[in-house]
Amino acid sequence: MKISKNTVVTLTYKLKVDGELIEQGNQDNPLVYLSGVGAMIPGFEGQLEGKAEGDHYNIMVQPSEGYGEYNQGAVVNLPMSTFEIEGKVDEEMLQVGNVLPMQDDEGNPLDGKVVDIKEDEVKLDFNHPLAGKVLEFEGEIINLREASLEEIDHGHVHGPGGVEH
Ligand code: ZN
Repeated sequence: MKISKNTVVTLTYKLKVDGELIEQGNQDNPLVYLSGVGAMIPGFEGQLEGKAEGDHYNIMVQPSEGYGEYNQGAVVNLPMSTFEIEGKVDEEMLQVGNVLPMQDDEGNPLDGKVVDIKEDEVKLDFNHPLAGKVLEFEGEIINLREASLEEIDHGHVHGPGGVEH
């Protein structure tokens, strides 16, 4: 069989950006996903469609098909008071380079990376860490199977590498 909509794919991968290894999953720790439901970035799923068990792949994903272009508008200054809890700022948490769990106006969770701290304001970058990056993936398709009706209904994989419930 070949990867198409509703295939459960198990694969190894190495993700590189500018030649630097960012993340990997090997035989003992493979990536498992349900194909065709938007679980992965479009450039990854799209280019792996049609691959068979045992196939090796090496693909490049442009930002527009990956985590999006880097958006300068997603870098914002927030008043220091935003970070006060009962009038005090947690200085261990508030450090350049730390990623803070924040939320948008509608209460959706968003990660903001601290890029600058001034006396009265903090600059946070809400871009995905891989926004604007060309991603290189390589690895091997190690197993393919049809998704069960229940998995299709839930929109995710059950069992090893997926959701246990
Ligand atoms: Zn489920």
